[in-house]
Amino acid sequence: MENPKIIVSGVTGDTSVKEEMKSAIRSRVEKTLNTMREEKLHPFEGEVEKTEKQLAYIDAVERYLQKTFKILNIPHEGRFIDPDQVHYFPKDILEKNFSDITCDVGGFFSTADRALCMKSYDDSEKEELNKTEIRDLENLAHESIHLVSHSKFQANLVSGTKLNIGNYRTGYLVQSPESGEMKFNGFNEGVVCITERLSLINEAEELKRQFNATDKQIENLGYDAYIQNQMLVYALVGKIAEYRKESPVRALSRIIRGQFTGEMMHLRDVDDIYGNGSLDLLAKYQSSKDPRMNRDRDDLILAYFQSDDQEERDDLKKKIDDIESKKEIN
Ligand SMILES: [Zn+2]
Repeated sequence: MENPKIIVSGVTGDTSVKEEMKSAIRSRVEKTLNTMREEKLHPFEGEVEKTEKQLAYIDAVERYLQKTFKILNIPHEGRFIDPDQVHYFPKDILEKNFSDITCDVGGFFSTADRALCMKSYDDSEKEELNKTEIRDLENLAHESIHLVSHSKFQANLVSGTKLNIGNYRTGYLVQSPESGEMKFNGFNEGVVCITERLSLINEAEELKRQFNATDKQIENLGYDAYIQNQMLVYALVGKIAEYRKESPVRALSRIIRGQFTGEMMHLRDVDDIYGNGSLDLLAKYQSSKDPRMNRDRDDLILAYFQSDDQEERDDLKKKIDDIESKKEIN
């Protein structure tokens, strides 16, 4: 069967020729990705050997992911994360070696080569390590959830010869491999954090026993980053549950599940509930190349989805449109 995770574009010609060509391109992309992935199982330059604790984090995250998929009834075979996929670096080396990559939380992931690069702390930073012990596990869980989310690639044939390969989907995040334009980035981060919180909170007793987590740390699981994004997701969950006359747990499960399976059609509820154009607003939330430039607009988008009052929403929508149209003029 052809790999449905690779979308091929830019191929022209008769249908039969086109299909054959697309199939050849898909195999080529698969081969390239596999080679990249195998290479990234070897240690990186500047990487430090994993500590017992870090190996225990990887093991724990693997178990939590297995459980999460089981609870959501999503079939999965084999391991999610091989310890060799995870690479730990001292903070300064990570920043120097990957200066062009913006860290997400404590590290970053790459869907193409499936590597996870995380910050490590040395002995001289022991005090910091104690403070961040659970944070390190949370960060690894966060990046791993991104990594095992539904992913799709696009292979675009340019001028009949050159092949551009890029990420097209990662969870709910939709990206244009050509322009880099993103959609649903902020929403996706909110869903990842909530998934992280729920899967870790199930393991509270183990986290206390194995990683010395305090009650306060357990209470704060998942709340170190993307707080507003999580508020946005919960605002939608409340509204969707009301609209579909179902429990919020059910509405949230569907959203969490979708990030892993790729189902997105259920997001159409957003337009049905809030009115046409609302899903587009959701897609824009924290999806700019530099979200700091659009903080004001993104705050208005959050307020829009939190509001119960149609008149207030219309007013907020007007303000958002004003900001957008000013940007177009500039
Ligand atoms: Zn993230």
